[in-house]
Amino acid sequence: MEQAYAHLSSAELRRALWLFHTVGNARLVGLGKVLMQWAMALHIPIGWAIRPTIYRHFCGGETIEGSETQVAKLHASGVRTILDYSAEGKEMEDELDATFDAIRDSIKSTNQDPRHAFGVFKVSGIAPTAILEMVSAGKSLTSPQEEAWQRVRNRVATLCAESARIGTPVFIDAEESWLQPAIDQLAEEQMQRHNQGQALIFNTVQLYRHDRLAYLKALTEKAQAGGFRMGVKLVRGAYMEKERLRATKLGIPSPIQPDKAATDRDYDAALDWCVQHLDSVSLCAGSHNEASSLLLCSKMRDAGLAVNDERVWFAQLLGMSDPISFNLAAAGYNVAKYVPYGPIRDTIPYLIRRAEENTSVAGQSSRELELIRSEFKRRAAIKAGR
Ligand SMILES: Cc1cc2nc3c(=O)[nH]c(=O)nc-3n(C[C@H](O)[C@H](O)[C@H](O)COP(=O)(O)OP(=O)(O)OC[C@H]3O[C@@H](n4cnc5c(N)ncnc54)[C@H](O)[C@@H]3O)c2cc1C
Repeated sequence: MEQAYAHLSSAELRRALWLFHTVGNARLVGLGKVLMQWAMALHIPIGWAIRPTIYRHFCGGETIEGSETQVAKLHASGVRTILDYSAEGKEMEDELDATFDAIRDSIKSTNQDPRHAFGVFKVSGIAPTAILEMVSAGKSLTSPQEEAWQRVRNRVATLCAESARIGTPVFIDAEESWLQPAIDQLAEEQMQRHNQGQALIFNTVQLYRHDRLAYLKALTEKAQAGGFRMGVKLVRGAYMEKERLRATKLGIPSPIQPDKAATDRDYDAALDWCVQHLDSVSLCAGSHNEASSLLLCSKMRDAGLAVNDERVWFAQLLGMSDPISFNLAAAGYNVAKYVPYGPIRDTIPYLIRRAEENTSVAGQSSRELELIRSEFKRRAAIKAGR
């Protein structure tokens, strides 16, 4: 436990306690979400309220340089960084180009800097959503739409080529199911191109979808047949409510598992599958779930792997599940944390997802609160000389 919060001062711990207490209230989070969305739509400045609270806890800073303190702090505890330019919700071509430039800068900044483990990007940050949706649905594109799609493919290809050139592997995040087939297509093209000896391009598989364990297995076979390594980040999935709502609205079957137990079962089965296929697979477990993290440790032990086997990584998000990150790192495992950064307004969709994930309904905040409270007790006992 000692190393779990060593990087936080008591003032920072108090802020975290207050924050998780606040976001634990589902009603408050619901209200905050509506207010933030209004403020964004009406261009009302809200940085003054967000910056010292939720932004400061979950984001590194507004720029790469501004995130330096976090990168250094993590590295001092053996945890590496995944710089994540988190601007979302852009649709115009000039905005997509600007996001592309910022992501390229973030990938370039990892060059020769061992504190960084991976780069990362969201395809929807550099693509018009409507185009991703059409390609995913297999619809035919008009000539301007085809040009827009080619621009997306070029942006993805350039980011992946840059990552491969400097040797920093890159994650392609998973998104909504109606955009994911286009993302899979792009990720698979790049894996085939760059993952010859080493896994440099990682696609992401969300196990809250009932069809993704099958996809993971099919992709492994494709990689084996195609002579490339499959890089995969395994997550449970961040868009559950949105997915369910859309399915209900359209009267189509939900792509989401029937319950949490089914998601957990497939997540753990996916970990097992990857460990069994490390001859052609490299994996990163992107999770705050303690049981899944411990399970992966025990699977590595059973398979006779070194704790720091370069094909197996653990990753968490900045400001969440620090005990998992820091204890795994202290035990010698490969651990990295997403450090999201970007202009405050543009990170609001990311911050809303984090707040929602931490409501008492989702259960994460009580886990965080319990851990922070026991750290306070531990510090108090040391102070009292016990
Ligand atoms: C490093 C990292 C990278 C990530 N990258 C992505 C990404 O690219 N794309 C993405 O979508 N998400 C991503 N996430 C977020 C992730 O998908 C989860 O939302 C989050 O990590 C919570 O899941 P958990 O494994 O930590 O564990 P838990 O807290 O045990 O699980 C919570 C998750 O279980 C699922 N769940 C909850 N209730 C139910 C239910 N009733 N029925 C079915 N399933 C349920 C949901 O996915 C929920 O988020 C990432 C997370 C991390 C740590």
